[in-house]
Parts: sequence; structure tokens; C-alpha cells
Amino acid sequence: MKPPELKDKQAVPEFLSGGGELGQRIREYNWSSTPLGPVQSWPQSLRTCIRIMLTSRQPIWIGWGRELIKLYNDPYKAIVGGKHPWALGTPASIVWKDIWKDIEPMLKQVMEKDEGTYVESQLLIMERNGYPEETYYTFSYTPIPGDEGSTAGMICANTDDTDRIISERQLRTLTQLGKALTDSKSDAEVIRKTLDTVKENRHDFPFALFYSIDDNQAILSDHTELGDSRDAVPKMIDMNADNEISFLLEQAVTEKRLQVFDDLTKKFGNMPKGAWEVSPQKAIILPIIQSGAKEPYGFLVVGLNPYRLLDEKYSGFFTLVADQMATSFTNVHALEEERKRVEALAEIDRVKTVFFSNISHEFRTPLTLLLGPIKDVLNDPNTIPVNKKRIELAYRNALRMQKLVNTLLEFSRLEAGRVEGRFSRVNICTFTQDLASTFRSAIEKAGMQLHFDCTEIKEPVYVDVEMWEKIVLNLVSNAFKYTREGSIEVKVMEEDGQLELLVSDTGVGIPADQLEKIFDRFHRVESSSGRSQEGTGIGLAMVKELIRLHHGSITVMSEPGKGTTFTVSVPTGKAHLPEEKIIDSAAAAVSMQSIAFVQEAMKWLPDGDTEQEIIDDSRESSIQESYTSQGVRYKVLLADDNADMREYVQRLLAHQFQVITAIDGEDAFNKLLQHKPDL
Ligand code: ADP
Repeated sequence: MKPPELKDKQAVPEFLSGGGELGQRIREYNWSSTPLGPVQSWPQSLRTCIRIMLTSRQPIWIGWGRELIKLYNDPYKAIVGGKHPWALGTPASIVWKDIWKDIEPMLKQVMEKDEGTYVESQLLIMERNGYPEETYYTFSYTPIPGDEGSTAGMICANTDDTDRIISERQLRTLTQLGKALTDSKSDAEVIRKTLDTVKENRHDFPFALFYSIDDNQAILSDHTELGDSRDAVPKMIDMNADNEISFLLEQAVTEKRLQVFDDLTKKFGNMPKGAWEVSPQKAIILPIIQSGAKEPYGFLVVGLNPYRLLDEKYSGFFTLVADQMATSFTNVHALEEERKRVEALAEIDRVKTVFFSNISHEFRTPLTLLLGPIKDVLNDPNTIPVNKKRIELAYRNALRMQKLVNTLLEFSRLEAGRVEGRFSRVNICTFTQDLASTFRSAIEKAGMQLHFDCTEIKEPVYVDVEMWEKIVLNLVSNAFKYTREGSIEVKVMEEDGQLELLVSDTGVGIPADQLEKIFDRFHRVESSSGRSQEGTGIGLAMVKELIRLHHGSITVMSEPGKGTTFTVSVPTGKAHLPEEKIIDSAAAAVSMQSIAFVQEAMKWLPDGDTEQEIIDDSRESSIQESYTSQGVRYKVLLADDNADMREYVQRLLAHQFQVITAIDGEDAFNKLLQHKPDL
């Protein structure tokens, strides 16, 4: 606009000098044509305020006279926006037609009551740039007295808070979304939490819809409150169809960026308004897609704030929301995959255990029947030496198999919670030493040393004798199996009310990433170069269970190439044990199971064939017949449906007792009535 002709150049007074563009425009303006009259006639108070305004860097405007004729400075140009320079010299009610209802009462208070006002971050829908825009201002109206003393005008200092308020609001949404979406467990949860979060920001999300994709169809899976618009919203969109929405969805996928859908009310009627008084005219379609992925997870459709331009900054905000959603979907899917994998592994483990325990059960009988006769042949003085060697080999292997079968069976019983300890007080030092010492000859034969150390244990120690035996035997046999040179140390001590058993070796060690896993059933370290590759990976899992039954724990420390130390801790005393599980006495003696362990260990030595006496005959020869006080042999009724087994056990028992056999439960019941056995 061409400034009006300057009337009297010489007459420009001092108070109008400088002031940038607005200073010049005010100087050049034909004020005589306004109620303000020629500049020379302006009262002193107005002149002083104009001087302040033109030299200030804060946006300021002055309204003078009844009509509040507008004067403003350069910083204020950003506020009047598109109305500059037309607003200069124009009555405020015309310049601010669009917000007049908001500001008129305050201006009246200033002009009529001579009272200043102050408003902080007031929402004003202003047409600064040719479209109605959401703006926020902090401003004060201060009355200016005329030369006669009464209020003749006002001065307004402004701060534009629009950017701050909007940035804070959007940041809040993004932060809350980030918080809400962590730990999401399913797609539905991600969608619901996103909608719940964005609906809190009613300015930027008048409404939001989420469409999932299924077989080239976008299906409305969730949405914010839609009220009456519910029926108008499409529930299913065929992405291949020939219409605007399908086209935009397709475009969103190929371009991987948001698309705008116009004329909402024309196409769907009034939509939810959110924080505004008018229905949104535009909606955006955001493809929720992980960078690098081809297919999106779905589309987030958002009704747009009617008072913001969808500029780069605003679309950037929506893209961040979409990115957060996409990341959460990706996380949920990764978690889901992991969960399925863990479940599948657990299922395989379970099936394996069931399978092993079934098959072990089936193996037990034939194994017993193999071991018995083999032992008979070995003990037969007529067996020639060469056959004795062969038979010894068969015996050892059958024994090993029996140990394995027993372990598997025991483990499945443990797992099923069918094993409870029976705890008795033992001399834990001697007992542990006896157990460890069964390996001495194997260890020394391998050119290594076995050290045993026990400090004084003051508190009484209660263990289940059989279980403790298994714990010690497993740990020492592992130490031997995974150590080729050096020594094995077994230590028993008392530490803070705990009994500690340490089994250390100078062996191959365990890689750090395997330490956690070695207690898992069936887990074996792939690369372990022990004395033997044999093993099932069940030993330590069982040891851990057995220790758990003692209310204790087991830890491991290891350095590959240097060695490993297992530390078992169980509480001393008996306060932690239920009364009924404590038995008075139990012979804490090394049992036959250690023979199987040592037998196996011997076989890991380079000259695997051992000279050890493997058959314990002492038991058999010392068996005495058992009589009742009346001098009759005790009667035992034995029932077994396997004839071989029945015969074999009968033969064993017959040394001591009178044995009656039965082939099944019914037969046993009849014989029970008939013979009245002692057992
Ligand atoms: P197994 O010995 O039958 O494989 P375990 O459950 O007893 O099963 O042990 C699991 C794994 O832990 C073994 O395969 C071995 O790799 C590792 N391991 C156990 N004890 C030791 C040890 N003392 N030194 C090194 N590795 C060991």
C-alpha cells in the first residue's frame, strides 16, 4: 500500500524520529484524516507513549481516543500479520473484528474504569496470516491519561506465547505416549494406549481412528470417542477399490508419508470437535510403518486442528507419534516371537523329560535283569579269565546305563514335585570327605591331586543323606571330567549360619555367557573339552533341585582355561525344615551309587579298562537268614508282573526270607489272605 502523502515534512516533531518502518509510516501518515487530528495537536501523554513504543523491542500497540485508533511498532508487525500496514490508523474494533468479543470487555474496563488488565497465555483465534489461527498471548492493557487527566487511550505490551504453548502441548503428548507404550504386550494394547494418550490432547487430536490391515483391507480396530459420527466412519476400506480414501491409503504406503483428506464435513458430516467449536475440515492418514519395512502395521487417522496450518513442523509432530507407534509394534512382535520361542523350548524340554522318564521306567527292569546274571557269571569261579574281562565290560556299561536311567527317573520325579527330603543330622565333614574320596584313586591315576579341607562346623547340619551324596558325587565327578591336569579341591565350612560346600578344579572352565545356562536341564556347553563327551546335561539341573529341597542355593564362578568353583550353601540347624521331615538317624554312609559314579569316571581315563574290583560281594556273603522270635523265617509276599524280575528278586530275598510270589494284584490279595506274610 502506498503511504498517504506527507503533508508537512518540516513539521515532524522529535518524538516521531527513528522507530524503523513503523516510525516512518507513522511520520508519513495523514493523521488529519483520523479522529487523532494532525500530529502537532497530539497531547503530550500520547507523544510520550509513542516515543516509548517506537524505542521498545517488545511488541506494543497503542489505541487512542474513543475508537482506539491503532498505532504500533515494528515488533508488533508479526502479531497483526497480514493486516499490516492497513491496521495502522484503523480503529481496534475493525482490526480485531475476529477476537473483538474476547478483548472488548477488557478494553472497556481500561477506558471506562481506568483500570489496567493482565492476561497470561490467552487463546485468541486470530487471522494473522489470512486464515484463522490458534494463538496465545500474554498481554496487558494500561490506561493512558490525556492532557486533561481522564483516560484518553491505552497501551498494550504483548508477548506471543503461541510457539511455547503448542510446543509444550505436543511434547507432553510425545512424552506421555513414550511412557504409555513401554511394556505393551500386544498390538491391541499399543493401539488402545496410543488413542488414550492422544485423546488427552484435544487441540491436536479432535478425533483419532486406527485401521489395521488384513488382506488388503483396512479394518477399523479402535478409535477415540466418536459420538454421533460413529456411523459415518468407514469400518472397512478395500485398499484396492477405486475411490479417494483407498487411493490415499495406497499412496500413504508407497510414499511412506502422511496424506491429507479434505472436506471432511461435506463427505462425512460433522465430526468430533475436540477442544474447538468447529468440526475439523481435514483429516490426515498416517501410515504406521517401521523404517525399512515394506508393509505398514496399519493407519492412524487424525482429525486435524482447524486452526493450524499443516506445515512442516506440524506434520513432523504427527510423524513422531506414528514413529513411536511403529517402534512399539516392532517391540511387541519381537517380544511375542521371543515368548513363543521360550514356550516352544519349554515344551520340548517337558516332552523330553516325559519321554525320558517313560523310557527310563521301561529300561529299569531289563537292566536289573542284565546286571544280576552278569554279576553271577563274574562271581562264578568257573568263569575263565578272558570271559571275565568281557563280562566286566558288559557289567560296567550296564551299570552306567542304570545310573543314567535312575538319574532321569529321579529328575522327572523331582520336577513333578514328588520328592521330599528326609533330613537327618550328619557329621557333614566326614560324610562329604568319604564321598569325595571315592574318586581319589581315579583322580590320582590321572596324575592329579584331590585335596579335602573342613573347618570346624559348630552348628548341627541336617541333610537328606541320599541327596547330599548325589550333590557331592555330581560336582566332584564333573570336576574330574572337565579337568585334565592340576587338582580338585573339596572344602566344607561354616559361613554366616550357612554350611558351604566348595568344589574347585583347575580345568577347562566355563565361558561367561554359559554360566547362567549350565543349571538348565539338558544344557551342555558345546565346546567343553572334557575327558569325555558323554553326558546328558542333567546332572547340574538335578543338583540345583536337590539343593533347593535343602532350602539352599548353588553358584558358580569360572574362568575359561583356569578352572571352576561351585559353591553350595545350605542353612545350618533345622529351623528351616518342617518337623515331620526330620528323621532321627540315618546312616550317613557312602552307598552303592558312588560305585556307579566312580566306575564311570574310571572309564574316562586314557586306559579306560580298570583294575578296580567292581563287585561288592561282601554284602551277599554276610547276608543272614532272618527269623521271627518264634524261630520261623519272616514271610515276604512279592508281586511283579514280569516273570524274570519276579524270579530274580525272589532269588535275592530267598537268602533271608521265606518268599511267596504273586503275578498281579488279585493274586497278591488272595495270597495275602492265605499266607498272612510279615511284609
Ligand atoms: P553333563 O556333565 O552331563 O553334560 P551337567 O549338568 O553335569 O551335565 O553339566 C552341564 C554342563 O556344565 C557340562 O556339559 C559342562 O559343559 C559344564 N560343566 C559342569 N561342571 C563343570 C566343571 N567343573 N568345569 C567345566 N565345565 C563344567
